Amino acid sequence: MIKIYNTLSKQKEEFNSLEQNKVRMYVCGPTVYNLIHIGNARPYIIFDTVRRYFESIGYDVNYVQNFTDVDDKIIKKANEEGKTTDEIVDYYIKETLKDANNLNVNPATHHPRVTEEMDGIIKMIEILIAKGLAYEVNGTVYYHTSEFPEYGKLSKKVLEELEAGRSDRIEMTDDKKSHMDFVLWKPKKEGEPFWKSPWSDGRPGWHIECSAMAKKYLGDTIDIHAGGEDLVFPHHENEVAQSEGANEAPFSNYWMHNSFLNIDNKKMSKSLGNFKTLRAVGEAFGYDTVRFFMLSAHYRSPLNFSGELMEAAKNGLERIKNAKINLEFAMTHTKVSDMTIEELKLAQELPSLESRFHEAMQDDFNTADALSIIFELVKFANSYAKEGATESFVKQVYELFMKLTDILGILYTSQNTSEVSLTDEEIQAYIEKRTAAKKAKDFKEADRIREFLNDQGVIIEDTREGVRFKRV
Ligand code: AMP
Ligand code: ZN
Repeated sequence: MIKIYNTLSKQKEEFNSLEQNKVRMYVCGPTVYNLIHIGNARPYIIFDTVRRYFESIGYDVNYVQNFTDVDDKIIKKANEEGKTTDEIVDYYIKETLKDANNLNVNPATHHPRVTEEMDGIIKMIEILIAKGLAYEVNGTVYYHTSEFPEYGKLSKKVLEELEAGRSDRIEMTDDKKSHMDFVLWKPKKEGEPFWKSPWSDGRPGWHIECSAMAKKYLGDTIDIHAGGEDLVFPHHENEVAQSEGANEAPFSNYWMHNSFLNIDNKKMSKSLGNFKTLRAVGEAFGYDTVRFFMLSAHYRSPLNFSGELMEAAKNGLERIKNAKINLEFAMTHTKVSDMTIEELKLAQELPSLESRFHEAMQDDFNTADALSIIFELVKFANSYAKEGATESFVKQVYELFMKLTDILGILYTSQNTSEVSLTDEEIQAYIEKRTAAKKAKDFKEADRIREFLNDQGVIIEDTREGVRFKRV
């Protein structure tokens, strides 16, 4: 039985999935305008491990992580660099996927992009307006928070207090009925990308994106919604208000939030300028060390970053890597005979190590404890599964070792140079974008997409039957 600490109830709860042996999981993804820092890498690694654990015990996980590819920060970056927003987002999506791959984070089942999900977003805003939960003023649509009685239930904030305190950096404008009302749609400013809508040529607010994408790829009610703890308010609180308001169904049964990665006991963040890119740290210590380091603490405990701690993590991981080498050597230097009496006795310890590993993982994914059990197994292997031991004994130890380390995804060859190839689904999406650009007579954009795909080793051909692609 898996127990998960649910931010909604503020306690550990037994996990029951909506559908048997299936998990519907949504993890808020990055806004793509820069390389991720190692603080951002924490949720990547943690929730990938949660997913791996569910899969290891037979669940089928539909894992959705979006890319926010329209945002003020992206527009600013494009202007600074004299590039189009498409150029910026295509580049950083590719680099982010490369980073995730370097961390041994499996690709999501779906990686939707906001700019490709406008229909669903607009539809959801229309529903909210029809239900009296949103209103339009001069082309801007706001969520009417006071019309959603449960507003504040996730973050445990009380609307009246928020109103009175006027905290949380939410500015009052003349248009809004209340301070806490937030934007669902806003009109474009000159030179900004925009989409047509019943209210104005413009673009969606950040929060509505996730509600619409979760609905499309996972349904009205999902099992787990996850992200860093800074997302609880306002982002996730607003997602609850939008999704439950529009769908009239519970949004997510479990809410998981990772604690921060700190540096000098302060949150590592882009705005504080105290961040280190994952690239820099991965190059210096190895990406697998970064993964190991993140798993060495429980995800709800703050974790401090320093060079010394990374060095210690590297040494710790090294011990596990050496155990694998030793076991592989022992496998080819075994004695072919029945297990000895002593080995039979020792082998009885293996199931208990395995079940303790599962207990740790099932207790709100306590990877720190799970790793300490792997270290016990390392010690056991180094002591007993050596040259000259019997084949069946060494094999049993090796298999358990591989099984447990694989669940945490800690043993892999990390190489920064590895290119991540686009999936067929992603290529198809680019082809559709190019076809739309051609239709709109934006040949420059169509050519850019073709060249971008060429760079990814994908050649496209226009045929009478439509556009075909091949990988080279
Ligand atoms: P952002 O790009 O700031 O929206 O962050 C992307 C993801 O990383 C979100 O889930 C954040 O909560 C998470 N995150 C950002 N900074 C940190 C940090 N220092 N420690 C842990 N998670 C973080
Ligand atoms: Zn989100």
